[in-house]
Amino acid sequence: MGFEKKTQKAMSLLEEVIEKAGGCAVIDGGFATQLEKHGASINDPLWSALCLIKDPQLIKKVHLEYLEAGADILVTSSYQATIPGFLSRGLTMEEGESLLRKSVKLATEARDKFWEANKKIPENRYNRALVAASIGSYGAYLADGSEYSGCYGPNVNLDKLKDFHRRRVQVLVEAGADVLAFETIPNKLEAQACAELLDEEHIQIPSWICFSSVDGEHASSGESFRECLDILNRSDKVNAVGINCTPPHFIENLISNFRELTDKPIVVYPNSGEVWDGKDKRWLPSKCFGHETFELYATRWRDAGAKLIGGCCRTTPSTIQAISNVLQQRS
Ligand SMILES: [Zn+2]
Repeated sequence: MGFEKKTQKAMSLLEEVIEKAGGCAVIDGGFATQLEKHGASINDPLWSALCLIKDPQLIKKVHLEYLEAGADILVTSSYQATIPGFLSRGLTMEEGESLLRKSVKLATEARDKFWEANKKIPENRYNRALVAASIGSYGAYLADGSEYSGCYGPNVNLDKLKDFHRRRVQVLVEAGADVLAFETIPNKLEAQACAELLDEEHIQIPSWICFSSVDGEHASSGESFRECLDILNRSDKVNAVGINCTPPHFIENLISNFRELTDKPIVVYPNSGEVWDGKDKRWLPSKCFGHETFELYATRWRDAGAKLIGGCCRTTPSTIQAISNVLQQRS
């Protein structure tokens, strides 16, 4: 495949971190889970974004915990931080934008602090981490569970989705994020909106687009990944594709499927296997994967072809530490 020069430059940042990590880089883990563990109350439609207002230092602390655990990429706390979401809570446009910038700043400050302290230590096990700005799907903003159904209704079209994402993408890029991370995308339409937006806005930093899957075979909408990836394969602005917030036992098979459908690097960060009940807003108890299981699975995911591996909801720094340890044991 031929890539334009500027794309090669954009790709190199993600490729570089993958290469420095020995062929498979580590993404951090669940954010809200860790905030809750430290006592933050996030039972709110804005979810962890609320913490940007109430307790920014706690966000920085969680970033540092994940760096300590071995994350090569930090994902910012902006998953449910959206301008319409902030406006609906009575904030002004400026305040909303300033909170988005803050999410990037907190991660960047944590990264810089950690790297300053560790880079001089001989044979330290760390790489300088990248900051990936989290962009949750439209369904994550609706907070009605539709990021796991893909049902946005007849009134949501391509332009509406692009306009929903546009200003947030602009602000996160201006704030100095290294990567854009579109997360929990449930259908083809939103994937297309994200890819076209990257083009329209002439985004120069690398990006990945991750889907959710509830059956381990299709996007959450029921559409085939072939259809979804056909669209993303045509975009030279999308540098990696994959799956997040999906039960871990689906991941190995999904990686194999994706390898047949795309040449782009594959990124996976599953949840712990517990099931989120979007209607009642709680985690249903189920067969839960401990970090020992993630350790086992991470090598299989790498061997199946994943280039970026981390954790989503209900995973913790222990999970990421286990993944990092086992991936560093490569020969
Ligand atoms: Zn998740």
